[in-house]
Amino acid sequence: MSAFDQELQARLNSIREQGLLRELRRVDSPQGTRIKIGGRELLNFSSNDYLGLANHPALKEAALKAVEKFGAGAGASRLLCGSLAPFHELDETLAAFKGTEAALTFSTGYATALGTITALLGKDDIIIVDKLVHACIVDAAKLSGAKLRVFAHNDCADLEAKLRWANKTRNSKHETRNILIATESIFSMDGDAAPLREIVALKEKYGAWLMVDEAHATGLYGANRRGLAEELGVSDRVEIQMGTLGKALGASGGYICGSRSLIDLLVNRARSFIFSTAPVPAAAAAATAGIKLVISSEGKSLHEQLWTRVVTFQSAIGHRSSAVPSTIIPIIIGDEAAAVAAANALRAQNIFVPAIRYPTVARGAARLRVTLTAAHTGADVQTLAHALDATRNSQHV
Ligand SMILES: *Cc1c(COP(=O)(O)O)cnc(C)c1O
Repeated sequence: MSAFDQELQARLNSIREQGLLRELRRVDSPQGTRIKIGGRELLNFSSNDYLGLANHPALKEAALKAVEKFGAGAGASRLLCGSLAPFHELDETLAAFKGTEAALTFSTGYATALGTITALLGKDDIIIVDKLVHACIVDAAKLSGAKLRVFAHNDCADLEAKLRWANKTRNSKHETRNILIATESIFSMDGDAAPLREIVALKEKYGAWLMVDEAHATGLYGANRRGLAEELGVSDRVEIQMGTLGKALGASGGYICGSRSLIDLLVNRARSFIFSTAPVPAAAAAATAGIKLVISSEGKSLHEQLWTRVVTFQSAIGHRSSAVPSTIIPIIIGDEAAAVAAANALRAQNIFVPAIRYPTVARGAARLRVTLTAAHTGADVQTLAHALDATRNSQHV
């Protein structure tokens, strides 16, 4: 073995010894409530395909049509010659869906955060993020060179303390510094909701900007299913509305919705947009179909079905229903090895629930992360609840 590979093997061994080794599991079926892994069919509670659109006929047909008309690849960055019609249709559909002046899509949600935060902030600026915000926002904040401050999870008093400090720093310098607050609306690993009304009030009080990542809320909350900001009536007061096209919308890609100036600036300054080949046209067409479906009457009934499943599951496992319900239901175990053992025990019963460990969550905060979708039946949900009960009893988790 080469010295290079020896070094890497030593690092992998250390990851393995901590019970943190991750491996890819090959899935031989489309995304859905039943997935095929290793020749077995598993009941799937791991996907973020909340409305069951990833394998929906309308999205597949839109993707196929886009392939027929626009081919397999986009050929270049959108700023060179790759700005194919399906991307423009998607941007327009998104802006209309979210009720904003404009929208811009990126190849992934991750690339969206990287491109947007680095376009907006530099080393003289300040970014204040929730402790549990997604890795893409943390990475973007670091890459931007801005001063990074972290406030305790969903803690507005701590956010205000950080804002007071930022404001003082800003006023003591002669140049104008910008302050950006970034949070998720529904948190990806805990399923809890950010106090967006209070955060909006604070950012206005201190003259900061606000970026809200609605990755796990787009399509799921609000009268028009735009997200939690809509449900809480603060959409118009959030400067930068971010999300992904890869979860409830059933396709792939990321987006920013906001003012025309924001979008024009991103086209000129977001490096992950500028220096990257446009996604395949089929992805954009599928996402457009996903949005159309979400706002249709079928979307409305899928939405209702999803929340029925959530209520059923929470009462079956004796969870208190929270003020803002979520499709993400974490079952906190703590110890990494115990979480993996619990996931293995479920898999032995043909149920797939992922064990989430460091670095996705803090050390010692390992958990089973159950996600429910509109495609699950009431019986599926009961099967999981019973299996969890049995696992709990046998493992004392
Ligand atoms: C999944 C996720 C992203 C990244 O989106 P992708 O389209 O998967 O790259 C960003 N933020 C949050 C909170 C997420 O859960």
